[in-house]
Formats: sequence, structure tokens, C-alpha cells
Amino acid sequence: MNGNQSWRASRRRLLAGGAGLAAAAGMRPSAARAARLATSAHIVIAGSGLGGLAIANRLARSLDGARITLVDAKKEHNYQPGYTLVATGLWPVAKVRDTNAEFVPAGVEWVQEAVAAFDPVAKTLETAGGRRIGYDFLVVATGLHLDYAQIEGMDVAAIGRDGLASVYAGPQAAQATWAAMDAFRREGGEAVMTLPAGALKCAGAPLKMTFMVDDRLRRAGTRERSAVRFHTALPTDTVFGVKAVNDAVLERWKGLGVETNFLSKLVAVDIGARRATFASPEGERTQVPYDFLHVVPPMRAVDAVKNSDLAWKDGPFAAGGWLEVDKATLRHRRFPEVFGIGDINGTPRGKTAATVKKSAPVVAANLVDAIAGREPSQQFDGYTSCPLLLREGSAMLIEFDYEGRLTPSLPMIDPLQESWAAWLMKYRLLKPAYVAVLRGNV
Ligand SMILES: Cc1cc2nc3c(=O)[nH]c(=O)nc-3n(C[C@H](O)[C@H](O)[C@H](O)COP(=O)(O)OP(=O)(O)OC[C@H]3O[C@@H](n4cnc5c(N)ncnc54)[C@H](O)[C@@H]3O)c2cc1C
Repeated sequence: MNGNQSWRASRRRLLAGGAGLAAAAGMRPSAARAARLATSAHIVIAGSGLGGLAIANRLARSLDGARITLVDAKKEHNYQPGYTLVATGLWPVAKVRDTNAEFVPAGVEWVQEAVAAFDPVAKTLETAGGRRIGYDFLVVATGLHLDYAQIEGMDVAAIGRDGLASVYAGPQAAQATWAAMDAFRREGGEAVMTLPAGALKCAGAPLKMTFMVDDRLRRAGTRERSAVRFHTALPTDTVFGVKAVNDAVLERWKGLGVETNFLSKLVAVDIGARRATFASPEGERTQVPYDFLHVVPPMRAVDAVKNSDLAWKDGPFAAGGWLEVDKATLRHRRFPEVFGIGDINGTPRGKTAATVKKSAPVVAANLVDAIAGREPSQQFDGYTSCPLLLREGSAMLIEFDYEGRLTPSLPMIDPLQESWAAWLMKYRLLKPAYVAVLRGNV
């Protein structure tokens, strides 16, 4: 086989395989084949990101006569998994920017306001503009809140200047992060990478950024006069929640000379002085000078959910204010007409687009069951996936379930080995697959 034939064969295998988002590319709407349920129910979907739009598109196909309302003020749709590619100089920012309107299905009403408060007892919500909207069924798909405010001195608007970087804050921040990384790699120096404790969306992204800053320094010929220091608030020897992946990453970092600091939480930054302050669990503070700082904010539920009766009241998900859903059916544990999808869910794992891909059919089917007066028929296993960028041209494709068991779906990709195929998936195939999920085509 020549190079081109082998590339084409790999691409065919990737698209035909089952790995997370990639399996979605090119697939046909399954909901369209099923019989439509006749109903006059009013379904409100709070949030029109990946999860909200995937459910809206599925319901529009599955229901006949339903009234479906989307509530979200955001008009731009962002392909967030592409942020790491933008932030490391591999993609132009335009590739992560689309308009939401092109994905909202015909016949669905879009209220272009944020939800300010939920009242699940009265089955209503109130928008930021004071509009009260009642519902028969509610899908909560608001994503999560990036809590930069917990880091004293942090200014999202300053990302890109004075060596300050953060891939999470949006397309602009991802682009500005590359500007900071690009300037840094030319001279080299001290790179300080951070990771808070608690649930994160794409918990692999802070690790990807660390691998990629190392790669960028090596390619620029400045790695030898630089240091890459990783600080995490997590306990000793922990950078990722799945042990096999965690150990593989630490082993690689040892080989690359990445320094690790555990129980070290970013609490403050002096942007002008380029100084980060870290705190130990005992409150002991250490100041660390940097030339490049990558900030990963703590994350929690959006205020409207956190401050409502929909949030967990006790247990491990209560502090973050996450939505209290049953982890298998993704139905609310106390309000049976409420379902959750995506990052907002208070479940053991699963804050990735790949999670939405695998759970959207479950949520849509269980919601249709509820509308029809049946018990939920589908169960979700917590599927989470993340192509962990290791360097330009190489990645590890990590897939796992609620229990942290590795669940590789492509036989030719060993999850703990670096591969060009996993890189190709991230670089080329995941965006079309993501769009297929948005349109409810899988
Ligand atoms: C840097 C980065 C890298 C990532 N890499 C990957 C990856 O490689 N692979 C992968 O699978 N996933 C990745 N992800 C994660 C993935 O993008 C998210 O898990 C996914 O977008 C979650 O979908 P969602 O619908 O829950 O939330 P979102 O897509 O974030 O949508 C939430 C929506 O809710 C809206 N909203 C918020 N508050 C309210 C409110 N009060 N009222 C109404 N609407 C509201 C928002 O405006 C937004 O439109 C990455 C994310 C980031 C940031």
C-alpha cells in the first residue's frame, strides 16, 4: 500500500469505527426512522450548546405536534474541542466559530435570553428579561460556569498579554493563548501550567496544553533553556481521574522533563509582574515567577441551576451546584419531567462532547418515553472520550466509562499508545462528527 492508500484506508476505518465523536460523521438520522409520537406537550430546552441543539433536533424529528422552545442568549456557536488546536497554532480561530441559527431546527422557537431562575415546583423558568415560561418537560443543557473569579487578580481580557494564557475562556482567548505561546516559544523561559481540583470539562485539555507547550519549545529550539512546571491542586501523583491514563501521562512527562507539583492550587496572579501564587491545603502560599502561565479555572454549575431546587442538595456534586440527575437515565431524581444533558449533569464523569454524542440518544428516548407515560427505556454508561494531544502529529485516544474503565472502541488504536490516527481524528474528523451530533444525526 502506498502512503495515500494507507491514509485512505485509515480514514475509512476511523469513520467506520465507534470512537466517540468520530463515529458520528456521515451517519443518518436514526430518529427519522422511528414512528413519531403525537403529543401537544411543551418542551423547554435551557441552553443551545451542543447538548441543547442535539436534543432539539432529535425531538423535532421524534415528536408530532409538540411545542419546543430553546432558551439561550448566545448567538455564536463555538466548537470548543477545537480550542486546543487554535491555542497551539494549528487551526485558525474561524474554524471554531459558527452561528447557532444554522443548527436550530425548523418549527422550534428560540427565546434569545438566558435563564435567570428555575422553579421546578411550578414548572416554570424566568428569563433574564423577566419573561416567565411554563413547561410540561424541561431539558437542562446550560453547560458550566468557568469560575475565573476564584483566582485573585485574574483578568480574562488580559489573556494573550504578558505571557498570560487560558484555552478555556472562548475562541478569542484560545487565539490570544496562541499569541502568548508563540511569543514565549521564541525566547523560552519558565512555563507554568495549572490544574484545579473538581469537575472540569475536557479534563484532558490542561494536559494537552502541557504536552503542546513542550512540543512548541522543542520545535523552536528553545526547550533546553526552558522549564515546564505543572501545578495541580490534586493529590500527589494525580493529574487525571483514570489511573491508567494518569500513570501514562506522568511517565511521559518524566521523559520530557516536565516538573510536577501536587496539592498546589493557583489562588492569585499578578499579571503585570508575571507572578503566580499557589496555596497548599494548609494555606501555605508560594509565589512562582513565570514567562508563560496557563490558567485553568475552577468550574461549577451556572448560577441559574446552582441556586435552584434542581441542584444536588448533598453528596459529592452539591458543592458545585450540579444538576441532580440519575446517572443512568439522566432524568432528574426529584422532578421526573426534567432531564439533563452535557456538562451541567452531576454525574461521576462525562463532561465532553463525546459524552453528549453518546448520551443524546438516551436522553431523547427517555424523554419521549416520559411524554408517552412510560418508564425510561435507555441507560447511559458514562462514556467519556478525549484525544490527548502529545505533540504535533501524535495523540492518545482515551475513552472510558463512569467507573473509569477504559472502553476503546477502535481496535487499531491502543488507548495508551501515541498514534497518528488519533491525531488525525482530532485534527480532521471530529468537527464534522460534532456537527452531525448537533443536527441529531446519530
Ligand atoms: C478547551 C476545551 C477543549 C475541549 N476538548 C474536547 C475534546 O477534545 N473532546 C470532547 O469530546 N470534548 C471536548 N471539550 C468539551 C465539550 O466542548 C463540552 O463538553 C460540550 O460542549 C458540552 O456541551 P453542553 O451542551 O453541555 O455545553 P455547551 O456546549 O458549553 O453549551 C452550553 C450552552 O448553554 C448556554 N447557557 C449557559 N447558561 C445559560 C442560562 N442561564 N440560560 C440559558 N442558556 C445558558 C450557553 O450560552 C451555551 O450556549 C472541550 C471543551 C473545551 C472548553
